[in-house]
Amino acid sequence: MKISAVICQVLSTQQHQEATRYEDTAGLRFPQDGLPVVQTFRGRADTRHLCVYPAGRSTALVRVQTDSGLEGVGEAHAPVAPRVVKTIVEDLLAPVLIGSDPRAIQVLWERMFSTMRLRSHTQGFTLEAIAGVDIALWDVLGKYYQEPVWRLLGGACRRRLPVYSSGTPGRDMEARRNGIRQVQNEGFTVIKTSCGRGSIDEQMDLVRQMSQAVGDQGKLLVDAHGGMDLKEALRFVRCLEALGNVEWLEDALLPENHTGYRILTESTPVRIALGETDCNRYVVRDRLLNRECDLLLPDVCRAGGISETLRIARLADVFGVSWAPHASTSTAIHLLAGLHVGAVTPNCYIGEYPSGFAQGPFGNGLLKEPLVLENGHITLNENPGLGTELDEAAVRALTLE
Ligand SMILES: [Mg+2]
Repeated sequence: MKISAVICQVLSTQQHQEATRYEDTAGLRFPQDGLPVVQTFRGRADTRHLCVYPAGRSTALVRVQTDSGLEGVGEAHAPVAPRVVKTIVEDLLAPVLIGSDPRAIQVLWERMFSTMRLRSHTQGFTLEAIAGVDIALWDVLGKYYQEPVWRLLGGACRRRLPVYSSGTPGRDMEARRNGIRQVQNEGFTVIKTSCGRGSIDEQMDLVRQMSQAVGDQGKLLVDAHGGMDLKEALRFVRCLEALGNVEWLEDALLPENHTGYRILTESTPVRIALGETDCNRYVVRDRLLNRECDLLLPDVCRAGGISETLRIARLADVFGVSWAPHASTSTAIHLLAGLHVGAVTPNCYIGEYPSGFAQGPFGNGLLKEPLVLENGHITLNENPGLGTELDEAAVRALTLE
């Protein structure tokens, strides 16, 4: 069996929302745009952010086709400028893949990673593109052997995985409280909320109220989006300790603050989580050696796909560190690829379930059979590959190019 074609499909909702082109930078915004710049008592006016967000949603599906007629589907996380990923997949990776046996996934992974190593493309867009191809290759392998990916990875510790609701949208507290009630009614007990805006006192007030709304039976996860400095985070985490139902503090600091993360992790029993930004095992090794976190959050569609995310998860286990697959504004391919790795790794803590996935444009509407969420859990099935099938007509309707 040989790879005959590797193509990338850009999916976007922007065309259905407004008449602007999806790559129009006027549609991009930083999360704090429109809000007053944070002035702390020390006068810090920090306008740095982790990333920019688009007005609509986009992602990139990768299809690996073979001369046997089998096709595997993967996904690269590409919420912004998805055509960059498409170009990397089709102009850089496809030429080194076509003609190769798609079952040699680890050989092909190293070849893809080696295409631009000298030029430092070992994270970011290139790893996202590699992720899309890698996931598609695992899907091909599953279809070839007629086995689910989790079995080909060595067998599942558990096929029924707990997932948390990834957000409580809403600008004000009442909207957020309603959001919590809504996701609790859907069966979630673990719920993430975001902070990182406003003064530390305001943020402490926010999480106190959110913690109360989640209640004794639930767990609250707090994502600060890199919005704090070390002293603020140390104050903030004392507050989280006292609340009793906060399970982790995510991205408290900017990812480059390695020393800050080590001090923060040593200082508290609340789990310090990070790692969305870390896209290969080598950068994760350095974080682990430096003891910067209790929990890693690699994203399978950014961190080199199933192969590299599995290596990251296994490496974390050596250091006694847990992991939780990050998921985002993308399709079931993304969600399932992370959960397949989660199923086979004993140190997987919980998976992320993007809020609004079921009704969202990239959610169940793109699938022939909806992904079933049951009491805050997803059960991986026995179907070959990733275990889901796209509704190709629905995919075509969102395909931009
Ligand atoms: Mg996050």
